[in-house]
Amino acid sequence: MEFPNGKRFAFSILDDTDDSTVANVEPVYNALADAGMRTTKTVWPMSCPEGSRLFFAGETLENMAYLKFVQELAAQGFEIASHGATMESSLRERTRRGLEFIKKEFGAYPRLYCNHGFNRENLYWGSKRFQSPLLRKLFACLPGSRSVTYHGDDESSPYFWGDLAVAHIQYVRNFTFRRLNMLEMNPEMPYRMRGTKYVNFWFSTSDAPDVKAFNRLLTRERMDKLERDGGVCIVSTHLGKGFAADGKIDHETGEILRYLSRKSGWFVPVSEILDYLRRKQTGSELSGFARLKLEYLYILDKLHLAL
Ligand SMILES: [Zn+2]
Repeated sequence: MEFPNGKRFAFSILDDTDDSTVANVEPVYNALADAGMRTTKTVWPMSCPEGSRLFFAGETLENMAYLKFVQELAAQGFEIASHGATMESSLRERTRRGLEFIKKEFGAYPRLYCNHGFNRENLYWGSKRFQSPLLRKLFACLPGSRSVTYHGDDESSPYFWGDLAVAHIQYVRNFTFRRLNMLEMNPEMPYRMRGTKYVNFWFSTSDAPDVKAFNRLLTRERMDKLERDGGVCIVSTHLGKGFAADGKIDHETGEILRYLSRKSGWFVPVSEILDYLRRKQTGSELSGFARLKLEYLYILDKLHLAL
C-alpha cells in the first residue's frame, strides 16, 4: 500500500485513558511530539462521583489541570477520542452529557470510541462481539461472562446510546491482535458489519496493554518488517500504565519511538489513517466469510495459537 507524501507505512497509537494523569502521560506525549508523531488519546469527560474500585486512578476532564493538558494536546494535532463518559457504567443521560462536554470543549464530537472495561453501556460487547452463533455460545460459557451484560446497543435499556453513537461517531475499535500490521489480519478495515447498525465502521488494532507489552511487541525486526510490507499499525495501549516515571519516558519506549521516527512512516492520528483506508476501499461491508475468519483469527490469537 502507498501512503501520503510517499511514506512507506502508517503507525499510530490508540491510548485508552485508564490510569492516565497529567503526571504519568505528559512525558510520553512530549516524546511523541518530539518524534514527529500525532496519535489518538481517549478521554473520560465526566467525573465518577460513585467511585471506582478498579479505575479510580485515572483523571477526567472535570479536573481543570487535566482538561487544560488535553486541550493543549488537541491544539498540537493529537486526536481526542471517547472511552465512554467515565470509568464506570453510565446511563444514557451521562453518556449524552459526556459527548456534549467534548463538543463544547473541543469544538466537535469525538470521531472515535473504544469500549471500556465492564461499562454496561459498551456497544456490542461481551458475547455480542461475535456474530457467529457458535462463538457467541462458547463465549457465553466462559467463567464470569454472564456476570456482566452490555446494553449500549439495546433500545429497551436505560444504558442505550446507539442512536447517538451512529450519529456522531465514525469509528469503533473491535478486535485486537498481538502483531503489528493490521492489514495482515483485517485487510478490509475499516468495515461495516451486518447486525451492528449502531456502529458506522469497525477497525482492528495491535494489542499491548501496558509498557512491558508495548516494548515486547515493538521489536526492531517487527518494525523493519512493517516498513518493508507497507503495513498499517495502530497500537492499542494504556499510556498511563508504566510508560513514564518521575517525569521521564521509559527508556526502552523512548528508543522505540526514536527508531520508528527515523523511518519513512506516516505518523498521524487513528481516524486520519482510517479515513485514508476508507477512501481506498471499493466496498465496506464485511462479507460473511471475512467476518467469520476475523472472529476465528481473534480467538486463535487469544489462545496464543496465531501463526
Ligand atoms: Zn479502558
